[in-house]
Amino acid sequence: MQAFHYKKASNVDGAVASAAPHTSFIAGGTTLVDLMKLNVMNPAMLVDINALPLEKIEKLPDGGLRIGAMVRNSDLAHDATVQKEFAVLSQALLSGASPQLRNMATTGGNLLQRTRCYYFRDTAYACNKRQPGSGCAAMDGDNRIHAILGTSEHCIATHPSDMAVAMMALEAVVHLRGANGERSVPLNEFYCLPGNTPQIENVLAPGDLITHVTIPALPEGASSYYLKRRDRASYEFALASAAVITQVQGGNLQHARVALGGVGTIPWRSKEAEHALEGKPANDETFRAAAEAAMRGAKPLHDNAFKVELAKRTLARALKAATQVA
Ligand code: SF4
Repeated sequence: MQAFHYKKASNVDGAVASAAPHTSFIAGGTTLVDLMKLNVMNPAMLVDINALPLEKIEKLPDGGLRIGAMVRNSDLAHDATVQKEFAVLSQALLSGASPQLRNMATTGGNLLQRTRCYYFRDTAYACNKRQPGSGCAAMDGDNRIHAILGTSEHCIATHPSDMAVAMMALEAVVHLRGANGERSVPLNEFYCLPGNTPQIENVLAPGDLITHVTIPALPEGASSYYLKRRDRASYEFALASAAVITQVQGGNLQHARVALGGVGTIPWRSKEAEHALEGKPANDETFRAAAEAAMRGAKPLHDNAFKVELAKRTLARALKAATQVA
């Protein structure tokens, strides 16, 4: 680990004003500290934001939810409103990490998790995300855990968050404060595909601070579900996951939203699957057709072709579960 300066912020304006070049905000530190120890991230300055008053979960008058950036993952997962009205979010959070990590990790930090690509985390290997232009060791290396959607010739790393997948299906909006004031970014415009610049993962400008996330109310009578497939039952990242929201009337799907995890370079909203669902009977045939549509653009590599069928089955099963809850 390299030496760094440390400063504690007591309010949002002070935190934003403290953000000099090469500054990282630190909250739970569950990703950042690991990566600093590995010399993968080397901020010159850490601004500690743990004292910021951004830890509230509030129901909005229109039925939506406002979640402060400092709300811990465990508090969000166990919030009564989240469990009752946005079950997919609670389920996704509880499927991630361990209780100890969830007690520390925050809503804002979870959105900004870095990939678990082994080569990114090991400075002995070439990695375009860590060192632009150096190459990608995963292309010809072990790419069993890597992405099959949204990849480029420069990077095939998956986004690791479960929470972000649920928030993608929930059409969350990220609210920011930066040097030029406040702005709001829909989550489906927040993440950047790797393309030629895999080191750029989102639309945050240097010094931007996530202050809160809002989630709109679900359609009347909608239900939601998160299903995650992984190598072991807990404390493991997704090989494939699905966050779904369904609204069934008269046996047909009136409304459907689908997001996938473990398979995309970003939390992956599948409009293809949604189009295959809407207006169709809520049955196994429709669910399988949606799963096929979701995977139509998949580009598997030598070790991760199994993810195509795994993701299809995961999505079909999640849709079945969601519609049975309704
Ligand atoms: Fe780096 Fe991306 Fe290649 Fe992994 S997949 S080694 S993160 S460039």
